[in-house]
Amino acid sequence: MGGDSHDSYPPELSPEEADFLLTSLKDWSIAHGLAVRPAPSFVQPNQDPAGVLAATAPVTLFPSLFPRKCFEEGLSIQTAYNELYSAIARDEDWLKGIVEELIDIDDFVGKLWQTHLAVKKEGYVQDLSLGLFRSDYMVHTDQASPSSSSGLKQVEFNTIASSFGGLSSQVSRLHNYLLSIDAYPASAISTIKAEALRQSNSTSSLAQGLAAAHKAYGSSRTGRALCVLFVVQDPERNVFDQRHLEYALFEENGVRAFRLPFEQTLLHTKLDTDRTLLYTPPNSPSTSYEVTTIYFRAGYSPEDYPETKEWDARLHLEKSRAIKCPSVLTHLAGCKKVQQVLATPHSPHLKRFLPNDDVASKVLATFAPIYPLDDSEAGKEAKKLAQDVNSASRYVLKPQREGGGNNVYRKAIPPFLEKLPHKHWPAYILMEMIEPPPLTNAILRNGELQRGGVIGELGVYGVCLWRNETEGKDAGQILENWEAGYLLRTKGDQSEEGGVAAGFGAVDSCCLV
Ligand code: ADP
Ligand code: MG
Ligand code: MG
Repeated sequence: MGGDSHDSYPPELSPEEADFLLTSLKDWSIAHGLAVRPAPSFVQPNQDPAGVLAATAPVTLFPSLFPRKCFEEGLSIQTAYNELYSAIARDEDWLKGIVEELIDIDDFVGKLWQTHLAVKKEGYVQDLSLGLFRSDYMVHTDQASPSSSSGLKQVEFNTIASSFGGLSSQVSRLHNYLLSIDAYPASAISTIKAEALRQSNSTSSLAQGLAAAHKAYGSSRTGRALCVLFVVQDPERNVFDQRHLEYALFEENGVRAFRLPFEQTLLHTKLDTDRTLLYTPPNSPSTSYEVTTIYFRAGYSPEDYPETKEWDARLHLEKSRAIKCPSVLTHLAGCKKVQQVLATPHSPHLKRFLPNDDVASKVLATFAPIYPLDDSEAGKEAKKLAQDVNSASRYVLKPQREGGGNNVYRKAIPPFLEKLPHKHWPAYILMEMIEPPPLTNAILRNGELQRGGVIGELGVYGVCLWRNETEGKDAGQILENWEAGYLLRTKGDQSEEGGVAAGFGAVDSCCLV
């Protein structure tokens, strides 16, 4: 990280400086949709029965320092990561090998796999898949854990419901605005030069990805108007993040999108004879639309499937002719187990998917050590590390889940495993903690200002549209592949989790040093 000149960044603010900065930040945030629905702890439902209130999204007051080299590296390898995960999603046999280890001990993964098999039996009618991915990283400093080299290390790769692309564009604009109106004290300006701030174009870029799928779907088969369907959770506090994408899809690409709560899927959609997906908006029952693309912002967590009807809904959507973002196989490719298998030292897996050695070695350099908890040699070794309080304190234990709040950290691992039946251990992976350099910043969350040590997590978005076909001249063709902007999330260094929606972090932008 940068030299001595940044040691006092960000500077302490006088009460007047803090007041001006906060007022500017709060007003800009609401005026530009850098917002979330208020937390239930913040506004009781009876205080907002009409659901009209919004609150500023948790943000950092200052853009956090981030090493320029690591930032550029993360952005530059995104297309390779897109290629890697699209190739995995296309390789059913390989994925089957991974999933088979999990199905008996992880019901959720098992049901996803069953969904795929059920569609396969009838035959997939849509050959294209869309990924709106996000690869997450932290900068590792090797003083703490010398077994892993320092630099940019991947936390995880998200293949479903990668969030905050909408708010990320806004927070980088906010920080740039605060700089341009002199809301930052003079002592910070030497660090926050306009050139050091990075604008994230994730909103437009992800919307363009949806538009590309929409277009690739082709013309209507039913003579109806075409649309994109956002399948969402309800209620959704992070709705504006999603709305930014929807509005960019409409305003910049002319593509109409609708929001459909996942649990209402079977009420408002149906399959035509050739499995064309039709959506009937509840406000206009006499008009139905033909769905080109399903964008899942729900369905990634077991809580989204309280009853069998939600599994029926997922199957119904997967069966359809609409392009899925993501398909069930792409969703499964995002399992932490896949990441662990790829990171196995000297394994042939990476080369299988990324034949170009240069490209593969750049991706490999971002892997942190990850181990299975199975009966392999590496697994036995990892089980020992995980059961000992001293060694366990360098690790995080992860199940095959998304959305934050699922991991077990450091010293909590041995007692957790003690209670877990041995049979279930292989459903988890053991990952070395990435130890980022110490930084400070101030976070405004739920109206409270917290200043102190923070940890930053860089997410890089990627758009990829590909063919799943395995034979013929177009087999495995990648139609679109681009890096789609970035997200910086910053959390207090006392919290192990970093999820903004899960209640731990704030959205941030990069000040490159
Ligand atoms: P999820 O899919 O639920 O977001 P993650 O793998 O991203 O799961 O873990 C959640 C959070 O835990 C991350 O955002 C990060 O703050 C922290 N975390 C996960 N893995 C590591 C790691 N290896 N080193 C440090 N922190 C980690
Ligand atoms: Mg995730
Ligand atoms: Mg994560």
